[in-house]
Amino acid sequence: MTAKAACTHLSAIEAVKPATEYVCEECVKTGDSWVHLRTCQTCGVTLCCDSSPNRHATRHAQISGHPVVASAEPGERWLYCYPDDAFAEF
Ligand SMILES: [Zn+2]
Ligand SMILES: [Zn+2]
Ligand SMILES: [Zn+2]
Repeated sequence: MTAKAACTHLSAIEAVKPATEYVCEECVKTGDSWVHLRTCQTCGVTLCCDSSPNRHATRHAQISGHPVVASAEPGERWLYCYPDDAFAEF
């Protein structure tokens, strides 16, 4: 996959962190809802996607500088790198 070769963040990941709980850790604090979940591959936090009202995963990536998330959705096996806008399947 060309995108994978172009992104050092994705190629550096050897073991994908799974979601510890199937919730957005920020939305549950405020009682908000979400659409899909993503798990940060740097710190392991699970947050909501860009289709969700709060977009916590994107906000986390921007604030923390953690580049890569994995889909936390059952049956989805992909990683996404924010700074490189790159996808990779695993
Ligand atoms: Zn990258
Ligand atoms: Zn959220
Ligand atoms: Zn993180």
